[in-house]
Amino acid sequence: MTSTVQNPIELLRDNLEEQFQRNTDQLAELTLRSRQPGRSGYDRDALAALIASARQTVSDTAQALRRMAEGSYGTCERCTADIPLQRLEILPHARFCMPCQRAQTG
Ligand SMILES: [Zn+2]
Repeated sequence: MTSTVQNPIELLRDNLEEQFQRNTDQLAELTLRSRQPGRSGYDRDALAALIASARQTVSDTAQALRRMAEGSYGTCERCTADIPLQRLEILPHARFCMPCQRAQTG
């Protein structure tokens, strides 16, 4: 029997890659929709907010994947502490540990 135990970081990378793909597709769809006459019934501001949010997630996810490739993934960008795996499992593209995140958002 082969071992199915996976490195948690590899699992997170799989998640991030999936998330990146999903959000890229979503962003493309929303952008397409915003260019259609009538925007498929979407409110212009609501659609703009959705696009901004999707774009932000795509960018966050791309950055997380890059940090993974560089080996700096899972380290807080502010205080350089290790970000707990528990937090990364909930928020795979987290850039800060909890205390720093709180300090950032106020
Ligand atoms: Zn920190």
